[in-house]
Amino acid sequence: MTQEIPYDYLLISDGIVGASTALQLKQRFPAARVLLLEKERAAAYHQTGHNSGVIHAGVYYAPGSLKARFCREGAQATIDLCERCRIPYVRCGKLLVATDAGEWDRLDALTERCRENRIEVQPQSRQQLKKREPNISGVAALLVPATGIVDYRQVTAALLEEFTGLGGEVRFSVQVEALYEQEQYIEAVCGGERLRSRFLVSCAGLMADRVLAMLGISADFRIVPFRGEYYQLPEHYNQIVTHLIYPVPDPTLPFLGVHLTRMIDGSVTVGPNAVVGWKREGYGRVNFSPRDSWDNLSYPGFWKVMRSHLGSGLAEMKNSVWKRGYLERVRKYCPQLALNDLRPYPAGIRAQAVKRDGSLVHDFLFAESPRSLHVCNAPSPAATSALPIGAYICDKVGQRQG
Ligand SMILES: Cc1cc2nc3c(=O)[nH]c(=O)nc-3n(C[C@H](O)[C@H](O)[C@H](O)COP(=O)(O)OP(=O)(O)OC[C@H]3O[C@@H](n4cnc5c(N)ncnc54)[C@H](O)[C@@H]3O)c2cc1C
Repeated sequence: MTQEIPYDYLLISDGIVGASTALQLKQRFPAARVLLLEKERAAAYHQTGHNSGVIHAGVYYAPGSLKARFCREGAQATIDLCERCRIPYVRCGKLLVATDAGEWDRLDALTERCRENRIEVQPQSRQQLKKREPNISGVAALLVPATGIVDYRQVTAALLEEFTGLGGEVRFSVQVEALYEQEQYIEAVCGGERLRSRFLVSCAGLMADRVLAMLGISADFRIVPFRGEYYQLPEHYNQIVTHLIYPVPDPTLPFLGVHLTRMIDGSVTVGPNAVVGWKREGYGRVNFSPRDSWDNLSYPGFWKVMRSHLGSGLAEMKNSVWKRGYLERVRKYCPQLALNDLRPYPAGIRAQAVKRDGSLVHDFLFAESPRSLHVCNAPSPAATSALPIGAYICDKVGQRQG
């Protein structure tokens, strides 16, 4: 007797990567029965709905990496989607601002990287920077005209609307609790229900390692949550900058540094910093989960990454609780800001894959089993890159069928 397999593709999650992949699967294989499962009550609930909203151009990423390729392609694909679906976006450009001679030297390395990644940049002298941004101080800057801003919740909603319009199915408030892989199908246990599909794609963000573990797939990484805390400037500062203002990143540090970001709603945020999270999906400042904390503390890679970034990690922690320290970081390039200009704003939590040897996984990372494909590491710029990531997954799935 043949087993009934009601779905061709089961997707875990309704973040931007899951939504993009679901839509492209339905576009490529119109007859396929595709079901998207999301444990929260709405789309874009976690990283996708708690980020800076930047359409990155791809300045920083290692030439030849998936990040470099997908970010460049994704920036254009995101803008095309915004045009097609009438989603507001602005190509405001970004300025990387050097505040001393050491940072100035690092601008040269970034210029070279942009050349390798085929991204247009325009060096700016102190005077040119002052003319473009009178409220910003620096000795030199690099202008990246292609960088833009958008609300990724709206992008995700548009992807979902197209997906359901093509006959795709979405179910919210359904958590995948266990997975069983058989020769002919994969079975997901969700509460009392068992759902069978020929293939599974997991884009579970902060839970990527746990979904992988449900199938017993071994991989050399664990997700370590890094909180990104923001402030918002008061409304009278909504025009304080016309570009996005970034510090020159320290190449020894994994994150980009606190920046001034124009948001698509017209406000300006400051942030995000990067501090270890003790609850993967907990956004309050004092959130704590015994399970998530144990996952950090019991993992050798966590201790190694803490040790190798001890100085910067302690400084981030200090500035997280000491607002004046946070302020000083942004006052380096925007000196007129004062303590009471930093108003509360929701934090985001990055899902960062860390290897057992303590190295951070920089590139996008995937893992596979005969009937499943998993997005293991999709940190920034994965919102910008969601469309090419989805296309890449569809190619992989297509190769299996073909
Ligand atoms: C502070 C911060 C700033 C950032 N800024 C930018 C930026 O400016 N530009 C940019 O391009 N990128 C940025 N990023 C990165 C970007 O937001 C993420 O890379 C992207 O949103 C990842 O999308 P995702 O779909 O993989 O994950 P998520 O959006 O986290 O979605 C994963 C989903 O999986 C669901 N899920 C997990 N487990 C299960 C389960 N068992 N069953 C059912 N559902 C499950 C979760 O509920 C969640 O909705 C930023 C990230 C952060 C945190």
